Amino acid sequence: MSQKSEKLIDKKGLRLDGRKPNELRPIKIEVGVLSNADGSAYIEQGKNKILAAIYGPKEVHPKHLALPDRMILRCRYHMAPFSVQERKSPAPSRREIELSKVIREALEPAIFLEYYPRTAIDVFVEVLQADGGTRCASITAASLALADAGIPMKDLVAACAAGKVDDTIVLDLMDTEDKIGAADVPVALMPNLDAITLLQMDGTLSLEEFEQAVNLALEGCRKIYAMQKEALKARYVNVKEVEE
Ligand code: ADP
Repeated sequence: MSQKSEKLIDKKGLRLDGRKPNELRPIKIEVGVLSNADGSAYIEQGKNKILAAIYGPKEVHPKHLALPDRMILRCRYHMAPFSVQERKSPAPSRREIELSKVIREALEPAIFLEYYPRTAIDVFVEVLQADGGTRCASITAASLALADAGIPMKDLVAACAAGKVDDTIVLDLMDTEDKIGAADVPVALMPNLDAITLLQMDGTLSLEEFEQAVNLALEGCRKIYAMQKEALKARYVNVKEVEE
């Protein structure tokens, strides 16, 4: 996140990819894309391409990690070596370890963990192509994959970032905006419960700008939530058609 004053918004008020400040990137979501997993989802958000797979609930190994009163959620966020222009080492980086924790913590409040004591669920997130905002898109996809696995949930989790580029508060930053822009505020929301499960900030914002960015990100989350529900419904229509 740098403070360089490169032009990211043109005279017409449009961004590098032609979007208005409050516009999301084009989003495509598909649920149930991996037949070996208990649940799965795929998301494209702009140039991001991300797969989420769920395995479990299952017995915990090693056994001492099991909790007597709840299930444990394990999460692995990983970027494929070919997901960015310069080959990324397949070994887990500090950033990936942090994002795995952040994504797990954003998902946990949505799950009835106490329904499955002594078990574990594994959440695998594989970023096939990255272009900014992958933690949010990963949360959006992983919560759908959990629902697809039939895990009892209080709500879906929808996530989206907002931030500041040039002097404008914008929604859903892509990589260049993330890198050159002044600030990035990723937010995850359980829209039905109206509860935030992730709120981070990278960069500098005034209090007023921060409020604006959070509200814009929440608006983005609600739009994404509508798309999540459509994607889940589409999955069930497909299942019904196969059964008939
Ligand atoms: P997020 O993807 O949630 O915005 P970051 O802000 O850490 O997380 O990363 C922003 C973007 O930087 C990523 O989406 C990706 O496009 C790019 N990026 C991350 N790690 C690397 C890397 N090792 N090499 C090249 N680009 C990277």
